[in-house]
Amino acid sequence: MDKTIRVTVWNEYVHEREYEKIKEIYPEGIHGCIAGFLKEEADIAVRTATFDMPEHGLTEEVLCDTDVLIFWSHAKQEEFSDEVAERIKEHVQMGMGLIALHSAHFSKVLKKLLGTSMTLKWRHGDRERLWCINPAHPIAAGIPEQIELTQEEMYGEYFDIPKPDDVIFSGWFSGGEVFRSGCTFTRGCGKIFYFQPGHEEYPIYYVPEIQQIIKNAVRFCAPIQRRKQKMECIHVENPYESGANEL
Ligand code: ZN
Repeated sequence: MDKTIRVTVWNEYVHEREYEKIKEIYPEGIHGCIAGFLKEEADIAVRTATFDMPEHGLTEEVLCDTDVLIFWSHAKQEEFSDEVAERIKEHVQMGMGLIALHSAHFSKVLKKLLGTSMTLKWRHGDRERLWCINPAHPIAAGIPEQIELTQEEMYGEYFDIPKPDDVIFSGWFSGGEVFRSGCTFTRGCGKIFYFQPGHEEYPIYYVPEIQQIIKNAVRFCAPIQRRKQKMECIHVENPYESGANEL
């Protein structure tokens, strides 16, 4: 059996084309950087898609062929197609894994799946110490107790998310704020990992430990069961009433 995990790295790809400084950090876009380090893994096959592609590059065909979708968005959250967001939600419920990065907390996709306001506190330009607070979790495999990010945008509590399955990372910022930076959720048959680091102005996705966390998350979010049909109510006959099961 082919155990390759098919990953689609989706990125809005707006900031990297708009601002020279961000283009210097991510010349191939954030999606190019993430796809680059995932391609080194023998058990992962990667493709990329961006906002400007027809249907944002997330057609029914692409999602059917995706085990785990990695999703980075910011500037065009409101312009993102409702239809495509609904399609992603259904595929997650059917078992597709989803890794939502950084500002994707406020994407239509995550709001639809998690159902809360997804609001938080934020401030430009801070320093983060990312604490691993759940070292036995598969996403924490090989990750040190703390990771120092010398520059990162501050995301602080209260973060209005539903109660997570697990909180694996907790961010501390130099202003004193804390944040649930790495959380898992289950929706239907699908596993979701939200991961806070990754503001576009800083080279976060080049940090080896951050790359390892994303690789671990891909394997964790890979489907256990992938359904072919949308989740729906099923009417079933009572077998005892048909007489077939009478003693
Ligand atoms: Zn940001």
